[in-house]
Amino acid sequence: MQEKFPGAHPNIWYPFTAIKGAPSPLKVLSGNGAWIELEGGKRLLDLISSWWVNLLGHARPEIADAICRQSQRLEHVIFAGFTHEPAEDLAEKLAGKLPGQLNRVFYSDDGSTAVEVAIKMAWQYWANLGEKRKSFIAFDHAYHGDTFGAMSISARSLFTDGFKELLFDVEHVPYPATWLDDGEVEAKEAAAIRRIAHLLEQNPKRYAAIIIEPLVQGAGGMRMCRVEFLQALRRLSRQHDTLFIFDEVMTGFGRTGEWFACARAAIDPDVICLAKGLTGGFLPLAVTVCSDDIYGVFSSPDPDKTLFHGHSYTANPLGCAAALATMELLEQNEEWFKTLEQAHGKHLAPLIAHPKLDRIRVAGTIAAMDIKTDEREGYLNTVSATIKRKAFERGLLLRPLGNVLYLMPPYCISKDELAWAYRGIASIVDEL
Ligand SMILES: *Cc1c(COP(=O)(O)O)cnc(C)c1O
Repeated sequence: MQEKFPGAHPNIWYPFTAIKGAPSPLKVLSGNGAWIELEGGKRLLDLISSWWVNLLGHARPEIADAICRQSQRLEHVIFAGFTHEPAEDLAEKLAGKLPGQLNRVFYSDDGSTAVEVAIKMAWQYWANLGEKRKSFIAFDHAYHGDTFGAMSISARSLFTDGFKELLFDVEHVPYPATWLDDGEVEAKEAAAIRRIAHLLEQNPKRYAAIIIEPLVQGAGGMRMCRVEFLQALRRLSRQHDTLFIFDEVMTGFGRTGEWFACARAAIDPDVICLAKGLTGGFLPLAVTVCSDDIYGVFSSPDPDKTLFHGHSYTANPLGCAAALATMELLEQNEEWFKTLEQAHGKHLAPLIAHPKLDRIRVAGTIAAMDIKTDEREGYLNTVSATIKRKAFERGLLLRPLGNVLYLMPPYCISKDELAWAYRGIASIVDEL
C-alpha cells in the first residue's frame, strides 16, 4: 500500500488533497497558544487559526475543563423529545448577543449543515405561506460548504465543477470586493445593487432569500465588502419581501472586529449561520438562528409545516459546553479581537507600495493581499505552494488561497508574534 501511494498514511483519505504529488502531511503533536508543535520538535505560528476555527489559542485550559466537566455528567442524548441545560444556556446566550429578533436557535454539526438548514428554512418558510419560491440569490466567488445545498448556492468553481449536474440553479451576482485605497468601490456596489434590484423586480416571487458571506468572503479569496453595501442589500430585501441570510460561519465570534459582521454592519438579518469559531476550535458544532417571524410561520401542529431536519449529534452537550466557555472567554477579552485590525493596519501600511503586492485589505482580525504573478489568479496559482514552503522554513503556518495571502491568527497572538510574522512575510514576498 505504502509503496503504491507514497507519502500519506495508508488508511486515510485526506480532504482537498490530490492523492499524487501532494507533499506528505505534517504530523502535529500538540498545540499551545498561537503555536502548534510538530513531530521532531519544530514549532509553527498558526496564522490561519487551523482552518479558521481556533479563536483563543490551542488547548485553551478553560475550554478543555468545560468539556471535561460536561463529559462526566452527560456526554450526549437524543435532542428530539429531550432537552438539556448546555443547549438551553447556549441558545439563550446566543440570542442575547445576536441583534434584532434572531432568537430561535437550530443546532447542527458544521458550517455546511448550518447552511443546509438555512436553505431549507427559507424554502419552507415560503411554502408554509403558500408560495413556491424557486431560487436563491447568491454571490460570485461565494463558498458556503461542501454538501449539495451548500455547493449549489456556492459559486461554481473547481470545488463544485465535478458535481454540477447535481446542483440546483441559483442566481449568482457580483460581490463588490474592495481593498485599501479602492477608488471604484461605490461604482461596483451601485452596479451590484442595480443587478439585484433588477432580478427582484423582474421576478418578484422567485427568490426565497439572498444569501451572503457578510464583510468577508472566505474560501473565495478573502474578498471584502463594505458595511454600506450590506445595508443597501438589507433595504432591498425588505422592499422586495425576500429573506436575507448571513452566512457567518467564518465571520462570526469576533473575526471582523465585532462579535458578528451583522453587528459591525448594524443589520439584523432574518437568518444567521454560525459554526467554525463557535466552540473556540475544539469541537464540531453549528447553529442556524432565525427570527421570531420565521419561526412563527412554522408554528403549527401540521406535519407538512414542520421542519424535518436533524442529526444524530444535534446539540451535543460537549460542544455546547465548549461554546459557552468560548463565549465567556470572548466576553472577558473583547479587546483581543477589537484591536487586531489596528495592529494589522500598522504592519500592512509599509507593504502597500510593494511591487509584488496588490489589493491590500483588512477586516477586524483578518488581513489579506494579492500576490502579483504571471499566472492566472485563483486557487490553482502555484505561488501558493512556494509561499507555504518558505513560510514553513521560517516557522509560520500560512496557506494562501492561490495567489491570495492572508493572515487570520487566533486572537491571543501577541504584538511581538504578529510583528515577527509580518517580518517573515515581507522577506518571503521580497524573495518571490
Ligand atoms: C467553512 C465555511 C463553510 C462550511 O463550513 P464547514 O464547517 O467546513 O462545513 C460555510 N460557509 C462559510 C462562509 C465558510 O467559511
